Amino acid sequence: MPLTGSCFCGQVTYCITAPLRAARSCHCSRCRKAFSGAGSAYAEVEPGSFAWKSGADNLSGYESTPGWGLCFCRTCGTTLCGTHDGEVHGVTLGTIDGDPGVTIGMHLFVGSKAPWDHIGGDARQFEGFPE
Ligand SMILES: [Zn+2]
Ligand SMILES: [Zn+2]
Repeated sequence: MPLTGSCFCGQVTYCITAPLRAARSCHCSRCRKAFSGAGSAYAEVEPGSFAWKSGADNLSGYESTPGWGLCFCRTCGTTLCGTHDGEVHGVTLGTIDGDPGVTIGMHLFVGSKAPWDHIGGDARQFEGFPE
């Protein structure tokens, strides 16, 4: 603590002062597009614990569902965080520098994962979203 993170080109950096929670990977077709991979690798931030350190003016956002969006670096395209009603809701684990202090705790929407996706590890897997 604190955790720090950055985008691929390094212009956008952030800092988190409380432990991450609810680390998860969603394998649905939307997350595969949004995160350009097998799915998302995402964890929620404690409200008030997240701050941009640099490059906040170089972010663009995309709201996929009313109220819910993703922010990415305008220069390199790295997706850095998810937002809810304009506030940072969580971060993409791939942008954390070093050990985020959490591991993926659940896999969501494995029922619609990509045919080339091999899910390893022993975290719980859910066909869709857990009830
Ligand atoms: Zn960048
Ligand atoms: Zn998803």
